[in-house]
Amino acid sequence: MIEIRNLNKRFGDAEVLKDIHLRVEKGEVCCIIGPSGAGKSTLLRCINLLETPSSGTIAVAGHILSFDGSLPGEREIRRLRSRTGMVFQNFNLFPHKTALENVIEGPIVVKRVKPEEAIRHGERLLAKVGLADKRDVYPSRLSGGEQQRVAIARALAMQPEVLLFDEPTSALDPELIGEVLRTMRELAAEKQTMVIVTHEMNFAREVADQVVFMDRGRIVEAGPPSRIFTSPREERIKRFLEKID
Ligand code: ADP
Ligand code: MG
Repeated sequence: MIEIRNLNKRFGDAEVLKDIHLRVEKGEVCCIIGPSGAGKSTLLRCINLLETPSSGTIAVAGHILSFDGSLPGEREIRRLRSRTGMVFQNFNLFPHKTALENVIEGPIVVKRVKPEEAIRHGERLLAKVGLADKRDVYPSRLSGGEQQRVAIARALAMQPEVLLFDEPTSALDPELIGEVLRTMRELAAEKQTMVIVTHEMNFAREVADQVVFMDRGRIVEAGPPSRIFTSPREERIKRFLEKID
């Protein structure tokens, strides 16, 4: 589903991603862990072209893009974005739209889905994330956990092949984290392909098919959670896990 080769990203002189190789199979959950500043967000942002890679290739669902530092064309950007959905740390909902309006905006504006159809699908998605009764509520009246679940429904509304999550529970009060992780577990059980940057190690251990540890712009080690969490080859990972637990 995702194949990244030789990916590099520079901001000016700073090499933020160095020779990244990553493969995520269809239906797989890939959790990216690692210290702050490792390049985790930049990698996710490259996958849906919120950042333009400096070099390398990214393939999503069989569509390959090669980068040489120049901006890809509008059509290429749209094509890659339509295959990926992003969920951010801070929800990023439209504040002046209700929960349902947030969910149906993309399908109606970008995909030109008929409003009645978008509403029907949007209501189903809100029910799926446990928020059927909040359809007409504005984000400011929702808890952080509810806002994040609306954001997940909004991402799903575009029917992406891959969902990308950047620390989806980091901005939440501890008692609200569980409800968001539960929704993500359900998506994993349905074999939704997901790449998740997270500090929730228990979640990663239980749900991930593949755990990727990043540090200083590189993938230090990738493998099944059973290995990365219990017997990583790299000392750095042990130290990181000890600090976080
Ligand atoms: P992480 O998500 O792992 O904490 P980031 O991907 O946010 O790491 O950042 C990796 C590095 O890239 C950091 O050193 C950060 O300062 C730098 N960086 C991120 N975005 C930009 C940007 N737009 N311009 C310059 N440097 C950036
Ligand atoms: Mg980050």
